Amino acid sequence: MSDMPPLELSVVVPCYNEEQVIDQLHKVLTTELEALTDAFEVLLVDDGSSDSTVERMRAIHEADPRFRYFALSRNFGKESAMLAGLSQAQGSAIAILDADLQHPPALLAKMLPMLEEGYDQVVARRTRKGDRPVRSTVSRLYYRFFNRLVDVDLEDGVGDFRILSRRAVRSLLSLGEYNRFSKGLFAWIGFSTAVVDYDNVERGAGESKWRFGDLVNYGIDGIVSFNARPLRMAIHLGTAVTVLAFTYAAWVIVTYLVNGNPVAGYPTLIVAILGFGGVQLIILGVIGEYLGRIYYETKRRPHFLLKESSNPGEIPVTVALGPEHDEFAQAEPRPPGRRS
Ligand code: UDP
Ligand code: MG
Repeated sequence: MSDMPPLELSVVVPCYNEEQVIDQLHKVLTTELEALTDAFEVLLVDDGSSDSTVERMRAIHEADPRFRYFALSRNFGKESAMLAGLSQAQGSAIAILDADLQHPPALLAKMLPMLEEGYDQVVARRTRKGDRPVRSTVSRLYYRFFNRLVDVDLEDGVGDFRILSRRAVRSLLSLGEYNRFSKGLFAWIGFSTAVVDYDNVERGAGESKWRFGDLVNYGIDGIVSFNARPLRMAIHLGTAVTVLAFTYAAWVIVTYLVNGNPVAGYPTLIVAILGFGGVQLIILGVIGEYLGRIYYETKRRPHFLLKESSNPGEIPVTVALGPEHDEFAQAEPRPPGRRS
C-alpha cells in the first residue's frame, strides 16, 4: 500500500441500466483521466440494474483495476448510488458524473486545476442551448420560485456534475438524513465554489429514466427537504380564507337586515364548499409530506445495501452515515451523557 502514490482523483459514476454506454464510458474516461493524472480511480456504482451493467463492470475491473465497482442490492435511486460511491472514494479530489456521457469527462481537465487552486467545489453548469423552450422556461421559473422559498441558493443548470475536495465530501457524508436532495445538500455545506459552463450534450445511448411526473415530484422534494416554510404558508392561507369567510358572513347579515331573506346563494355555497375543501386537502397534504419525512427519518435505515463489490476480502453490506464521518467532531471526545 505504502509504495502507491496518493490518489489524486476519484471519479464516482452512478449507473442504472447503462449496458449500452458503459464500455464507451470506460474508454472515454481512461483517455481523459490518463491525460490528467497518473493516480486516479473510478468507482462505478450499479444501482440495481436489471440489464448486464454489473457483468460489464466486472469485466472492466478485471481488465483495469483502477476501475472499481460496487453493486447495490436493488435500485435505491441516483442519490443513494452517488452516496455509495462517495463513501468508498479515496482520492483527495472526488468527481461525480453521469454514466451516459451527458457530463463530458473532458471538462474534468478544466475543473481539476480550479479545485487545486483552493476551491472546495467546482461545479459544471449546463447552458440551456438546444433545450426545448418549454422545459427551460419551466425550470427557470422553478429556480426563481425555489430560491425565494428556501434558504440555500440553487442555480439553474447546475446538477450533480462536479469535483469536490476531500473535506467537502466528508461534510456531505456527515449529513445523515435519509431524504437526500443532493442539489440542496451541495449548496448547504457551503465552502467556496467555482462554476464552469458547458453545452448540453445528448445521451450517449439508452434513455433517460426521468418522466415528467418524476420531475414534478423532484421539485416538491426540493422544497420540502429544505425548510418548513410551506407549513407557514398554510397558516397564512388559512388565515386569509377565514378572514374572507367572516367578511362574507358580515355581508350576508347586512343584506338580510336590509332586504329581508331572499333564499339564494346556491352557487356561492357550492363554490365555498369546494374551495374550502380544496384548501384543506392541500394543507393536509403539506402536513402529511412533512410527517412522512419524519417517519422515514426515524426508522434510521441505511441509505443503501451492497451485494457485490470489487473490494478484495469482505464486502461491507452497509455504510453508516452521520457525524462519525466528521473527523473534526471526532477529534475531541464529547463529555459523557451529552449528545449534540
Ligand atoms: N441513475 C441511477 N439510478 C437511478 C436513475 C439513474 O444511478 O435510479 C443514474 C443513471 O445511470 C445516470 C444518471 O443517474 O448515470 C442520470 O440518469 P439519467 O441520464 O436517466 O437522467 P437525466 O440525465 O435524464 O437527468
Ligand atoms: Mg442523462
